[in-house]
Amino acid sequence: MAEEEKDPCIRCGHQPDKTDQYCVRCGAPLVNKCTKKKSPLHKGCSKVNRSDAAFCASCGSPTVFRQAGLL
Ligand SMILES: [Zn+2]
Ligand SMILES: [Zn+2]
Repeated sequence: MAEEEKDPCIRCGHQPDKTDQYCVRCGAPLVNKCTKKKSPLHKGCSKVNRSDAAFCASCGSPTVFRQAGLL
């Protein structure tokens, strides 16, 4: 099984550890998750989008990168 390489930090280019969720150098999120939260009307969306996606490919809500002002 090939080891999964994480993308470098979108803001500063630091190469994160596999398990990191946020950049240890600048605090930017490393996993471009959908921001749609669970609500009474929606079960929420936990899709992980491509690192260049400003909006979720599954539901159209802003992604974490978009919300953090990275895109
Ligand atoms: Zn960074
Ligand atoms: Zn979504």
